[in-house]
Amino acid sequence: MSKAFDIGIEALATASPCEPPAAPAQTSPAGASGFRANEIPASAPNGKSFYIETFGCQMNAHDSEKVAGVLIERGYAAAESMAQADLVLYNTCSIREKAAQKVFSRLGELRYASPRKVIGVLGCVAQQEGEEIFERAPWVSLVCGSASYRKLPELVARLDEGGRRVTGLDLDTDETFETEITRRDNPIRAYLTIIEGCDYACSYCVVPHTRGPERSRASESVLAEARRLAGAGYTEIQLLGQTVNSYRDPSPRGLHFVELLREVAAVDGIRRVRFTTSHPNDFHRAIVEAIDDTPALCDHVHLPVQSGSTPILRAMRRTYTRDEYLEKISWIRAARRPISITSDIIVGFPGETEKDFEQSITLLDAVGYDSIFSFKYSPRPNTSAAAMPDAVPEEEKAARLAILMDRQRQIQIARNEKLVGGTFEVLVDGRHESRNQWAGRTTSNRPVNFTSPRQNLLGEYVQVKITRASANSVAGEQVI
Ligand code: SF4
Repeated sequence: MSKAFDIGIEALATASPCEPPAAPAQTSPAGASGFRANEIPASAPNGKSFYIETFGCQMNAHDSEKVAGVLIERGYAAAESMAQADLVLYNTCSIREKAAQKVFSRLGELRYASPRKVIGVLGCVAQQEGEEIFERAPWVSLVCGSASYRKLPELVARLDEGGRRVTGLDLDTDETFETEITRRDNPIRAYLTIIEGCDYACSYCVVPHTRGPERSRASESVLAEARRLAGAGYTEIQLLGQTVNSYRDPSPRGLHFVELLREVAAVDGIRRVRFTTSHPNDFHRAIVEAIDDTPALCDHVHLPVQSGSTPILRAMRRTYTRDEYLEKISWIRAARRPISITSDIIVGFPGETEKDFEQSITLLDAVGYDSIFSFKYSPRPNTSAAAMPDAVPEEEKAARLAILMDRQRQIQIARNEKLVGGTFEVLVDGRHESRNQWAGRTTSNRPVNFTSPRQNLLGEYVQVKITRASANSVAGEQVI
């Protein structure tokens, strides 16, 4: 969904790891009500506290949950605010220029913080800028890229021992970041990373540079975590990966993505399984068949297209044409279940002509997306597109983005209006006190706001009759 359409109750849960929006900043509040108690083992407090601010996609949000787990395991407690924390960490995103700039502006705010406060930079900006961060912000003590998170316990131990500048910037790890505990901030939906890094080489993207090559987790480890989550009371799991459907089990079982999907969906107590982000190249008919015959797999596929023009897709090195993409869409549309399709689209890629842009607009109509994330192209360091000629002027990019968003808005209104009069199962994940409404999502990930005479609906599955529709959500009342 373009940023204007991103009205998710949980802002981060709607962003694509492959192409996250620029800056849906999230803080990690202390004592988040979302803790599932049996996920947090007791550990001896060390008298120190931490605060993490996260930029970017669900992958980053979930990395922060795991980093918090590492710190809690070492005896740290979550602080109520950045001001109170002994250790402040920024988990950064550099996929858009603005997000990277924002991190340095945040670091600037801590320039005159107490020297006892330890400040660290994690994630993509850490990987990209490396030790230069120490030059630009000498008050930073820790720089650790996302591919090196496995080293965090050791790095934090060095900080605890008084280390002034510690770094974890290797990209050559062949392991994934697994921790004994994860401090989950979302009480309704549990994120579960199954694959890290990326082996594609899209010409605009920093992820292969910042997150390193593709590494899948062993299926038994994924399934054990899914069972723990179910035991902790979660009923909805979202499997994560930059290219989640490229998953290939490294263990002797050698499961393919679809086999893993089916096994996670079969875990006792799990009612909904989502997965993000799929690469069109690895999107096979078997995924649609699995959704069709497995009720716990959600009716939703996020399939980033990036452009509707084959020449631009080629320049982006997306490895598929418009027609090949549309063929995959036709499989989804032929399913027995009404699968919702969402996507990411970039406008103003170098060399994008009016005609190329028009192809993106006609693609919106051809697919009928339920929502999209749309972005103006911005050149990123260490990407081949940054050196491409024929840059599209900023005003032109802005104008194209506005046209694209407007067309998509009309499509969403039309699609949502078709739901009026229908009744849908909604997992309740929020409450708008001022409007006296509950909020939740359907299996197709559509936001639903509704009224109910009942109390305490958070985490429950309820039936909601839809009475109104807008571009970004539908509204209705609970069927009792
Ligand atoms: S290189 Fe391409 S496939 Fe890989 S994360 Fe970036 S956009 Fe996604």
